[in-house]
Amino acid sequence: MSINNTKFDYTKISDDCVKCGKCKPVCTIFNINQDEATSPRGFIDLLGAYKRDELELDKTAKDIFESCFLCTNCVEVCPNDLPTDMIIEQVRSDIAKKYGIAWYKRMFFWLLKHRKTMDLLSKLGWMFQTCALKLDNEKQSARPRFSLPIVKKDRVLPFADSVSFLNKYPQNIPAKNKVEVADKKNKVAIFIGCMSNYTYTNTGDSLVKILKKLDLDIFIPKKQLCCGAPAYFTGAFDTVDYLAKTNIEYFESWIDDVDAVLIPEATCSAMINQDWEHYFHDQPEWKARAAKLSKKIFLATKWLENNTQLKDMLATSGKKMNDVVTYHDPCHAKKMQGVWKEPRNLLSQNYVMTEMSDSNRCCGFGGVTMQTEKFEFAKAAGAPKAAMIRDTKAQIVSAECSACRMQITNSLDTAGVDVKFKNPIELIAEALED
Ligand code: SF4
Ligand code: SF4
Repeated sequence: MSINNTKFDYTKISDDCVKCGKCKPVCTIFNINQDEATSPRGFIDLLGAYKRDELELDKTAKDIFESCFLCTNCVEVCPNDLPTDMIIEQVRSDIAKKYGIAWYKRMFFWLLKHRKTMDLLSKLGWMFQTCALKLDNEKQSARPRFSLPIVKKDRVLPFADSVSFLNKYPQNIPAKNKVEVADKKNKVAIFIGCMSNYTYTNTGDSLVKILKKLDLDIFIPKKQLCCGAPAYFTGAFDTVDYLAKTNIEYFESWIDDVDAVLIPEATCSAMINQDWEHYFHDQPEWKARAAKLSKKIFLATKWLENNTQLKDMLATSGKKMNDVVTYHDPCHAKKMQGVWKEPRNLLSQNYVMTEMSDSNRCCGFGGVTMQTEKFEFAKAAGAPKAAMIRDTKAQIVSAECSACRMQITNSLDTAGVDVKFKNPIELIAEALED
């Protein structure tokens, strides 16, 4: 199969790899498989061979390229900054074209494009979920009562809330005591992300509470759609195209009215402020529009720490909490957006913080394929993370990412570790409660 119109030149990247092997010890899949073929260096070598028409994109190659977690650990350590994650995303689009996309993923991606149907299904899911799931409200997780075709019985999952975040609030929530500041709107928008919209809704509720305390006008854009990340990591680029363009046109209609768009989700914020531009590499007009928007898109803790009095407010009027918290760095927060100090700075005002041995190690979520067909890999990658959380003796593990939440909650359950997961936004809101 020929590779035209692709962003990355696999031959050049393969030539630029000096085979130093620095990426191997940090690679999530290599640590599981211990196989050169599924290491960053191996992926790059194989993609060079594919470009030279020396490698057929057969089922074995498909299997290999689908085993990368897209954690970017390799990019962080590579002396030549080789974008292994992005070339894998690119080849997955070729794989999707050649083999098609599994029915359940196509159905899922269709739902991401049709919010009203997703709302209805989520509501039905909430009504009937206790038939199929045993709920643990404290840990926001549920265990299937029986094995399903895609989901095995021995794992825990998030469950749907009765009302989605976007359906719970009005579009505009004016500040009670708004302070006028020159050159500022003192108004922020919330992009919530699908998991916090339907399952971990307390994250959005908590962000609203914090923004009210800060006397900011809140805008909740009701027509926002999924950022497209699940489709991007799967190679379903037609879905990414639709979601990114629809969102861009919608964001442009109100972006000048707000100071920032806050996203309490690492993967969604990285997708919107970085991956949309990567995706539009061959559509310059859309790339420029995505780049312009990205200046106002922020992971929530980053903007709150750098642009508001939140830290002082937590220090002066926040409650001192007894819980010990350990913070996990989502790959899409620290490695992709350089955000890691901000949540710690905010949380340390009220909580006792303790570091796990390797907070930067990928939790093993890995995307839709990894959470379904290749779940054994996700399970294996999650075990060391659960062990290091247990060793901290913390009561709470926190990360600004619902994908990490889903994966870590399951890993802790599998390992029998009784630690709760909370988004830092939830913990901050709890510390500010009257
Ligand atoms: S993105 Fe992660 S799993 Fe994939 S090759 Fe790089 S380090 Fe390995
Ligand atoms: S660290 Fe970079 S240059 Fe070294 S082997 Fe890995 S991909 Fe190649």
